[in-house]
Amino acid sequence: MSHMQIEQLRGRLDELNSQLLELLSERAEIGQQIGEWKRNAGLPLHDPVREKEMLDRLAAQNSGPLDEATVRRLFGDIFKATLQVQIEAPAKRKLLVSRASHREDTVVQIGDTAIGGGEPVLVAGPCSVESREQVREVAAALKRAGVPVIRGGAFKPRTSPYDFQGLGFEGLKLLKEAADEFGLLTISEIVTPAHLEEAAQYVDIIQIGARNMQNFELLKAAGDMRKPVLLKRGLAATMDEFLHAAEYIVSRGNSQVMLIERGIRTYEKWTRNTLDISAVPLLKRESHLPVLVDVSHSTGRKDIMAPCAKAALAAGADGIMVETHPNPAAALSDADQQLDLGEFAEFVRDVQSSGLYRAIKS
Ligand code: PEP
Ligand code: MN
Repeated sequence: MSHMQIEQLRGRLDELNSQLLELLSERAEIGQQIGEWKRNAGLPLHDPVREKEMLDRLAAQNSGPLDEATVRRLFGDIFKATLQVQIEAPAKRKLLVSRASHREDTVVQIGDTAIGGGEPVLVAGPCSVESREQVREVAAALKRAGVPVIRGGAFKPRTSPYDFQGLGFEGLKLLKEAADEFGLLTISEIVTPAHLEEAAQYVDIIQIGARNMQNFELLKAAGDMRKPVLLKRGLAATMDEFLHAAEYIVSRGNSQVMLIERGIRTYEKWTRNTLDISAVPLLKRESHLPVLVDVSHSTGRKDIMAPCAKAALAAGADGIMVETHPNPAAALSDADQQLDLGEFAEFVRDVQSSGLYRAIKS
C-alpha cells in the first residue's frame, strides 16, 4: 500500500472518529432527556433490562469484523458513560440565579432607587409597625438621613405565640401612608401566599423572612408576582440552599430578587446570630443578584452595627438593613437591638465616613 493510500485511510479514520463523537454526544444528550424524565417520574436511572435488550439486538445485528464480546463490551461502556451523564446532570445544571448563566449584575430598579447598581443603599425602619405616629417619626428620620426605603414588619414571625404578632394589613397601610408622605419605598415581610396580592398594594418590596426561606409555596407564589423580593437567608441555611430558594422565585419568571445575609445560628452567644461576612463575596461571585446585609438581626448588638455595616460594604454588599425605632425600650419586638433615632443618625454618619456609602441627597 502506498504512503498516499495510508494517508487517505487515516484521513477516513479521522472522519469516522469525528462522526462517532458526534453520534455519541447526540446519544448522551438524548440520555440526559430520558434521565430528566425518569427523575421526574421517580424511576431509577439504571435500567439493566433495557440495557440487555439493546446489547442483544446489537449482537444479533453484528456481522463482523468485531466479535460479539467486543461489541457487547464497547456498547456496555457507552451505556455506562450515558448513565454517568444522567447522574451528574442535576449538579451541573446552571441555576438561573448563577453568574454562570447571567454574567451581568442584576439591578433592581424601583422608581429612582437602584439596588445592585454599584451604589449601596440603606434600608431602615422599625422591627414592627406599631402605630401611625411611630412609623411617621421613623419615616421623617429616614428622609432626613437620605435613606430611600423604609422597612416595618406587619406580619411578624415570633418565636412565642404570646408575643406581639404585628398589625397585619392595618400595619402595611400605616407603613405605606408614612412612606408616601416622605417619598420613601416600603418593604415588609409577607408570610403566606394568600396575602401577597393584597400586600402588593402597600409594599414596593416583598420581604421573605429567614424562617420562610424554604417555604416553597411562598417562594413559588412570590415568583409568580412581578414585584421585587428581598429573600433573607434561613436561620441555618447553606449558600447552596439559599441560592436554590432564590431559584424558586426566579424560575417562575420574577427576576427581581435580592439576597440578604442576616446571620446564621452558631454556638456563639455574644451575638444574636453569627454574621457571615464571607457570604457577601461568595454570593456576589456565584450569583448576579444584589446582596444586602442585615446588621440588626445578625449581630443583635447596637455597639458593633456600624463596623459590621462597613465590613459588609467593604466586602461588596449592595445594601445594609438596620432597625430603628423612636423609643426602642418600649418597642413591641426586638427592643434590645433597635437604634433610637439619634443613634440611627449617628450610624448613618459613621457608615458614611467610611467612604463606602453615600446618602441620597434630596
Ligand atoms: C425582620 O427582618 O423583620 C425579621 C424578622 O428578620 P429575620 O427573618 O431575618 O429573622
Ligand atoms: Mn426585628
